[in-house]
Amino acid sequence: MFAYSWSSPGCEIDRSEPTTWQDAACQDGSGTLTALFFSDEEAEINLAKAICSSCPMVARCLEGALERREPAGVWGGQLFADGRVIPRKRKRGRPPKVAVTIPSEPERHLSAVGSANMLGSRQIA
Ligand code: SF4
Repeated sequence: MFAYSWSSPGCEIDRSEPTTWQDAACQDGSGTLTALFFSDEEAEINLAKAICSSCPMVARCLEGALERREPAGVWGGQLFADGRVIPRKRKRGRPPKVAVTIPSEPERHLSAVGSANMLGSRQIA
C-alpha cells in the first residue's frame, strides 16, 4: 500500500494569481504521487480524488483527460478506465458465474409479510 499523508489546510494556494500546472495539487516535484493516482486500491483512489478536489487545475485537468480519452488513472477528480469516467474500479478476477438476482419490491414485501406471519404464529403457539 502506498504511504502518503495529505491535508488541505497545508495546501493553500493563492487563487487571486493565475494558475498554472505548477500549482497543481499533485505537483510535488518528485513524482511520488504517481502510484497513488494510478493505484488499484479503492482507498488510494479516493485519496487521489481528495487531492484533486483542492486542485486549482481540476476543471482543465478533467477536460484534457476526457479529450485524450485517458486509459487509466485519476484525472480531474475522476477515475478513468478505457477513456471514460467510471465510478469505481472493478475487482480483479472473473465476474461471478451465477448472476445475482435482486428481488423486486413486491417480492421483498411478500417475503417480509411471510416472515412476520411466521413470527406471529410462533408467538401464539
Ligand atoms: S486535478 Fe489533475 S492536476 Fe490537479 S491534482 Fe488532480 S490529477 Fe493533478
